[in-house]
Amino acid sequence: TRRQKMNVEDYVQGVLAHDRAVLARAITLIESNALVHFEQAQAVLKALMPHTGGALRVGITGVPGAGKSTLIETLGLMLVKQGYRVAVLAVDPTSTTSRGSILGDKTRMNQLSQHPQAFIRPSPTGGALGGVARKSRETIFLCEAAGFDVILVETVGTGQSEVAVRSMVDFFLLVLIAGAGDELQGIKKGVVELADAVVINKADGDNRVAAGAARAEYDRVLHYLSPATEGWTTHAYTCSGLTGEGVAHIWDVVQQFSHMAHENGAFMARREDQMQAWLQNLIEAQILATFSQDARVQVALEQARHQVREGRLTVPSAAQQLAHWLRIVPPDST
Ligand code: GDP
Repeated sequence: TRRQKMNVEDYVQGVLAHDRAVLARAITLIESNALVHFEQAQAVLKALMPHTGGALRVGITGVPGAGKSTLIETLGLMLVKQGYRVAVLAVDPTSTTSRGSILGDKTRMNQLSQHPQAFIRPSPTGGALGGVARKSRETIFLCEAAGFDVILVETVGTGQSEVAVRSMVDFFLLVLIAGAGDELQGIKKGVVELADAVVINKADGDNRVAAGAARAEYDRVLHYLSPATEGWTTHAYTCSGLTGEGVAHIWDVVQQFSHMAHENGAFMARREDQMQAWLQNLIEAQILATFSQDARVQVALEQARHQVREGRLTVPSAAQQLAHWLRIVPPDST
């Protein structure tokens, strides 16, 4: 059966009415790489923008096997019980239609996905991280317009994806396990510094003592790092997504953070910075795309490469010559 074609107004009304089927279709529209869909999606987003921003956006990262989906299921079920409406989104830059996705192919969060107050969306597929990140960011807006008040954005630690997720959330949680070395856990230098909390997960059974030791060790490390958020001290905690122990405390920490960041202005300042940085990124991406797709530029670039190789042109001069095609000339070049 063919689904009925929807126009912009249908999407907008459906999302605002908290209709999850329409929300899912609106996300599909946003995820489409077709130009016609882009225009329509932007019209939907524009209409919905006044209804966005109301959720607490929490990023969750960790290597596969760290227990993220188990933890998110436990946390999500706890939150819906408290009356929250919870959306879970995944960002996975390696996810493509041909290769399959790290976050998408298991049956995950079974109970939560069936809960009427929850909404789970696997990672958008296809394209470079920039494209995937745009889709995720816009999906956050759609979920907010659809009345979700907690948005959990999950990502696998790949180095780049943590930075992308950090740039779209209010609070960033790093999920680790005891006993595995930093390299094993894929912790790239600097990722710990992005975190507003570090949680040593699977702190249950025989693993409890080791988890406690790892927590203390990370607390020491964090003491020497600059905090991810102004005015906040990042600490390490233990929890078990499996038994639920410590999970409520993690949520207390998120709420304390939110309270503090609203009080000192860091919350809204970060959101403003995120929007401006996103705009800047998109402008740069547009300029680069326009530039490198220009046939004249391609010819000139080929010549410049050749001249650089032969030593007849310096690299800065080559770059400057090419920039003439954009009519962007450094002001001090005269
Ligand atoms: P993800 O890849 O990070 O999403 O990790 P999963 O949630 O799929 O968990 C990976 C494995 O670790 C599964 O076999 C889980 O049953 C197990 N696991 C997850 N959380 C815990 C926990 O808190 N304690 C223990 N002991 N095992 C866990």
